[in-house]
Amino acid sequence: MSVRTRFAPSPTGYLHIGGARTALLCYLYARKHGGEFILRIEDTDRARSTDESVQAILDGMQWLGLDYDEGPFYQTQRFDRYREVIDQLLQSGHAYRCYCTPEELDAMREAAMAKKEKPRYNGYWRERSDTPPAGVEPVIRFKNPLDGDVVIEDAVKGQIVVSNTELDDLIIMRSDGTPTYNLTVVVDDIDMKISHVIRGDDHVNNTPRQINIMNALGATLPVYAHLPMILGEDGKRLSKRHGAVSVMQYHDDGYLPEALLNYLVRLGWSHKDQELFSMEEMQTLFTLEAVNRSGSVFDNKKLDWVSAHYLQGTPADALAAALSPYLQAAEIDTANGPALSEVADLLRDRAKNLNEMTAAARYFYVAPAEYDAKAAAKQLKPAAAPVMQAVSEALSALSTWEAAPIQQALDQTVEKLEIGFGKVGLPLRVAVTGGTASPALDKTLALIGRDAVLARIATAISYCENASA
Ligand code: GLU
Repeated sequence: MSVRTRFAPSPTGYLHIGGARTALLCYLYARKHGGEFILRIEDTDRARSTDESVQAILDGMQWLGLDYDEGPFYQTQRFDRYREVIDQLLQSGHAYRCYCTPEELDAMREAAMAKKEKPRYNGYWRERSDTPPAGVEPVIRFKNPLDGDVVIEDAVKGQIVVSNTELDDLIIMRSDGTPTYNLTVVVDDIDMKISHVIRGDDHVNNTPRQINIMNALGATLPVYAHLPMILGEDGKRLSKRHGAVSVMQYHDDGYLPEALLNYLVRLGWSHKDQELFSMEEMQTLFTLEAVNRSGSVFDNKKLDWVSAHYLQGTPADALAAALSPYLQAAEIDTANGPALSEVADLLRDRAKNLNEMTAAARYFYVAPAEYDAKAAAKQLKPAAAPVMQAVSEALSALSTWEAAPIQQALDQTVEKLEIGFGKVGLPLRVAVTGGTASPALDKTLALIGRDAVLARIATAISYCENASA
């Protein structure tokens, strides 16, 4: 049987970190085995599903590059098919109409609780042939086997055994004619020939019910693999309280998709003590057996570490391409400045994400609108004016505008004025970049360009002259 996996999100919110990890592992498993990866949108809960959420999921998948081979399939477009299968179950005696009113169900629940039993449906309409009561729209229930066990051979959690006596007759169609989750998932997993159901372990409880329905339909069972939860740093299930959980928030925060994927694959999966994996390596090395059984903690510091690694390892042109939309969003026009790939190459060592690189890239294209107040108060004092003047003259005299001669000109100025390098370098850095943090001065000046550098020095000289001593 060829490997076919599916990612089956409900479009009731954005694509969150947990969903993205599930999608990634489904994707990797399919790729590793030369199979197919399918996207299915489980939108039957019409009250909670929105078009925006569908779009957010598609955008997240696209940004992460998790390309699906089939889909997106929408469950709301498959209602006729679900109805067909429900009729089939009715006909084969695996399902029945239940006419219990809400009041009767409440009474049933209370009676069970009074006997200290689990509150559940007691199978009242399971074997009845009475005339149904008038005016009650029935629900349809699945006839769960009364005895025996359901055995799940979970590829991650190992064997899980659930007694059928724990399971009641589940509603598979509501009285308004809409099918319920456990039915639609089973029909889709069968029709879409899913070989491996890889999903979050919040669905473990549904699995025995789904297996029973699969069996009633005579289907071959898929392999089930339930992934452990992702936890926040406090050990609780990851949620909004812990900060960003939407995948696109990581895009907005300037993470490369490759870095996020690398981080996500390690959440609950490991291969020896390796931390960094290319996409090819992930596809070759991923196995379900190596997925942890217990939850894993989302660690922002580690994500930053992985992110910094990817900024360093990405070829300059690709890095520039990734950075470009961030600069556009920050309204930094790169048209008349240095090549973005060279700027990116220079800035990558000092940044954890593309937002930090964007902030740092600004002064390569635009003169600082104002100086960092503390830095200016310390470095751009009247005494710095003649020093800046000497630097300006030395730089103007250069015949080639490159890092090495620029460095030489600065060194010569230091010698001539008989002062320490800091007395030249520090005010110059503030004059040109607006602050005190930048890559090596010679390379920074080389990229910014002679005219822009000299103009910025001239502005700084007037600033120094007007500053109080
Ligand atoms: N639609 C379900 C969810 O978003 C997933 C169902 C499944 O993977 O079986 O939680």
